[in-house]
Amino acid sequence: MAQTRSDDENKYSKSLYFNYPALDVSLAFPQATPASIFPPCTSDYYQFANLLTPEEQALRLKVRECVERDVAPIMTKYWEKAEFPFPVVPKLGALNIAGGTIKGYGCPGLSITANAIVTAELARVDASCSSFILFHRSTMLTISLYGSEVQKQKYLSSLAKLDTIACMGITEPGYGSDANGLRTTATKVEGGWVLEGQKRWLGNSTFADVLIITAKNKNTSQINCFIIKKNAPGLQATKIENNIGLRMMQNGDVLLQKVFVPDEDRLPGVNSFQDISKVLGLSRVMAAWQPIGITMGVYDMCHRYLKERKQFGAPLAAFQINQQKLVQMLANVQAMFLMGWRLCKLCESGKMTPGQASLGKSWITLRGRETVALGRELLGGNGILSDFLVAKAGLHELVYL
Ligand SMILES: Cc1cc2nc3c(=O)[nH]c(=O)nc-3n(C[C@H](O)[C@H](O)[C@H](O)COP(=O)(O)OP(=O)(O)OC[C@H]3O[C@@H](n4cnc5c(N)ncnc54)[C@H](O)[C@@H]3O)c2cc1C
Repeated sequence: MAQTRSDDENKYSKSLYFNYPALDVSLAFPQATPASIFPPCTSDYYQFANLLTPEEQALRLKVRECVERDVAPIMTKYWEKAEFPFPVVPKLGALNIAGGTIKGYGCPGLSITANAIVTAELARVDASCSSFILFHRSTMLTISLYGSEVQKQKYLSSLAKLDTIACMGITEPGYGSDANGLRTTATKVEGGWVLEGQKRWLGNSTFADVLIITAKNKNTSQINCFIIKKNAPGLQATKIENNIGLRMMQNGDVLLQKVFVPDEDRLPGVNSFQDISKVLGLSRVMAAWQPIGITMGVYDMCHRYLKERKQFGAPLAAFQINQQKLVQMLANVQAMFLMGWRLCKLCESGKMTPGQASLGKSWITLRGRETVALGRELLGGNGILSDFLVAKAGLHELVYL
């Protein structure tokens, strides 16, 4: 006979699973402050702030203050639900950082170093928010480098204010690292183009107002770029579910079924994959600054945690084995920052090679993973709770072009 649950068992399981409110982690674990109250920045050991101009330093503090105040308190909630924190968008918009290095059209015309510092400050508190800006900014950069004057006037100023959101579509299900082999096609028709194909992984695509899509021109076999607007007939963006990293980011699968794009929405400057590679090279420098910011936050979090949490009658920071891990983390952050800073300077002087960008990004990312793994050890059980940042950062693996 099949087993049935008694009324008592049903009552018990209902109260256990449905009636208890979530316990505030600061009440449940009073010995350490959760990351919703973000720790002070203690990771600038070699005073790299002095390498920045007064404007870059001021911007850094402005961004830091905003994300610590407006993002840190809500990020665990959105991370757990794997939802994008839309209330944060106007706050980031007010910082006037989305336009990055672009000059004019309502954009701030930041230096490459300032752009990198902004990326790191966002990532220090939340890597999903940083990625959101990263993808949006790369798309804007593509429009500014390769768009017509009319397109720049039409799109950039509202994107700069984050009144509208952009996303960039290069990767396809069958073409990731090998993005140059893309299969999406653009067929010339009267008054415009018809796009057909599939894209994968596009950050922000589930809610973006403007999508920049790469496609192979059927007449010339060249790679061209097209602006597609949200709700265009034949366009469908579906969120990629079951994501264990960057959970607040919304990466999408995008289906293009005979999407009509008028002539005025083709970017006239993109005629080969080399044109796209220029944007990818600059994005690589910014992607390198994500692990720098993430590890700064993880170090800051661990530093505070070890001073607050006591075991065997003393703060965890009093034990040399913990100090050694913390010092190794701090040294990594310093070296990562210096490598990232040098990349910015090479880029600003126009001397950066693609190899330098790739080596820098890959080395920085590896040191970042090592640093976060050390942080995870230092937090004991709390190392697997998103409330204490390290678990969330550790699950964050960057795979960009
Ligand atoms: C969080 C996230 C956000 C993204 N956002 C965007 C976006 O906004 N727009 C967009 O267009 N794309 C986006 N992407 C896609 C991203 O650019 C691809 O994931 C990346 O290009 C790698 O492609 P792939 O995942 O298909 O891996 P693959 O190309 O299948 O590679 C798998 C592994 O094999 C290795 N490999 C591949 N080729 C070689 C080779 N020749 N020799 C040795 N090793 C090799 C790779 O390094 C990797 O380790 C995003 C991806 C992620 C994870």
